[in-house]
Amino acid sequence: MAVPKKRQSRTRTATRRAQWDVIKAPTLTLCANVACGAPVRPHRVCSACGMYRGKQVLAVALPADDAAAAAAE
Ligand SMILES: [Zn+2]
Repeated sequence: MAVPKKRQSRTRTATRRAQWDVIKAPTLTLCANVACGAPVRPHRVCSACGMYRGKQVLAVALPADDAAAAAAE
């Protein structure tokens, strides 16, 4: 087993552990649905259009304006 040659300073240990609580901005990509293009997290269903890997997997409610227009037709 590897044995440390020198004791690590408290500052060095604390600096390493300080990274545990760092909050990073989530990675965002653009929705693969060309008609949508909303920013989405990778490997997740798009909440704007409900598509994942080219398939409709979620029924997404239309915005109020579109729903009213669809009902009027
Ligand atoms: Zn989308």
